[in-house]
Amino acid sequence: MTAIKHMILGGGMVAGYAAKELAARGLKPGELAIVSADDSLPYERPPLSKSFLAGKDTEDTILINKPDWYSAQGINVKLRTTIDRVDLPAKRVHAASGDAFEFQNLLIATGARARKLDCPGNDLPNLFYLRSMDDSRKIRARAAASKSAVVIGGGFIGMEVASVLSQQNIDTSMVIPEDRVWSRIFTPALSEFFENYYRSRGAKLLKKETVASLKGSEPLEITLSSGRKLSCDMAVAGVGAIPETDLFAKSGLVIDNGILVNEYLETSQPGVSAAGDVANCPDSIFGKRRRVEHWDNAVSQGQHWAAIAAGDRRPFVHVPYFFSDVFDLSYELWGDPGGATQTITRGDAKSSSFSVWWLRQNRLVAAFAMNRPDEERQAAPQWIESKQSVSADRLADDKLPITTAAN
Ligand code: NAP
Repeated sequence: MTAIKHMILGGGMVAGYAAKELAARGLKPGELAIVSADDSLPYERPPLSKSFLAGKDTEDTILINKPDWYSAQGINVKLRTTIDRVDLPAKRVHAASGDAFEFQNLLIATGARARKLDCPGNDLPNLFYLRSMDDSRKIRARAAASKSAVVIGGGFIGMEVASVLSQQNIDTSMVIPEDRVWSRIFTPALSEFFENYYRSRGAKLLKKETVASLKGSEPLEITLSSGRKLSCDMAVAGVGAIPETDLFAKSGLVIDNGILVNEYLETSQPGVSAAGDVANCPDSIFGKRRRVEHWDNAVSQGQHWAAIAAGDRRPFVHVPYFFSDVFDLSYELWGDPGGATQTITRGDAKSSSFSVWWLRQNRLVAAFAMNRPDEERQAAPQWIESKQSVSADRLADDKLPITTAAN
């Protein structure tokens, strides 16, 4: 039995950033252990569907902390270690290898796994799912030998992977269940902008379609819900993620779309917290619970847990944020557009420099920005958090500085 002060279960982005923050706050050698089933040290996940997939980043360049950093800090990182039993009231976790750990303070950062397609052929060799560095490596290798690809799903992975494959001159078709891309978040004008952009770069969009079955391998043959058939060298499915909570099913933790935590990221068990994709956390800005599956949330919650573990106990208050890079476009989105009653566009929505502002009763609830001035990027999260009242007319007038829109 190894006794440890702080233990992080899961070696992803939460662990990488929490370790960094604890170290900056005076962590002593031997106080932190990270236990991970992965065979890599904590790495950045955004490049897996962008620059790493495109071959512009390597394993070394996407590591959050270099290997010798962990040894210099006296952090015990146990890779290739699967925890298969937990006894949270006794503050113990047991590895499949027989190792056991007794902790004072546990952070559950097990993340999420890729959802699989629910149809025949969902496990064929040239159908890929993307979650880990190894998944991205395999997609990259297959892409190098492919002339045609089908990307299933029009979410983050679908849009980013389709952009990388299209740029490698692979004939890429996207299968999207919705009638427009990102309809869950985007306004119709935003969806139209991205659809036109993708088409102009050679990607084909097959909307209101799902996959009914797959067969074969070289080529892979896909039958869609409409009966249409596609033949390709490879397919990548990005159809959502499932929080990794199975280990905790009988642990006494409250699980409901992730592990329920309070505003201090604490679970219902003393000394046990959760953060990142697996944590369902109260959002005091929007007055609801949410589970966020983006880089910024993993980083911010990992750092926040570390601050609390080091004695700086504050509630986690954070405006949801994500970014994406597709082709030569980079954009960001803050807040939550759900429930908005008005949208305002600044700039020309047919160019690649515009912003969209979602208002509810004259308060900003969400903002999208692509190639916009820093003043707009700064105003967006500040106004959402402060529930700032804004003038829709002044916001819509691109000739006025954004600050004049604050009432
Ligand atoms: P996602 O963003 O939730 O999108 C999943 C998409 O797949 C949705 O459009 C969904 O449509 C569609 N879908 C569901 N079932 C389908 C089916 N049977 N056939 C075709 N389409 C189907 O999830 P993701 O793209 O798989 O990404 C996985 C995770 O990685 C997410 O948590 C995501 O946030 C994260 N990620 C984030 C970034 C970023 O922040 N830039 C980049 C990459 C990955 P419906 O909505 O209609 O169900």
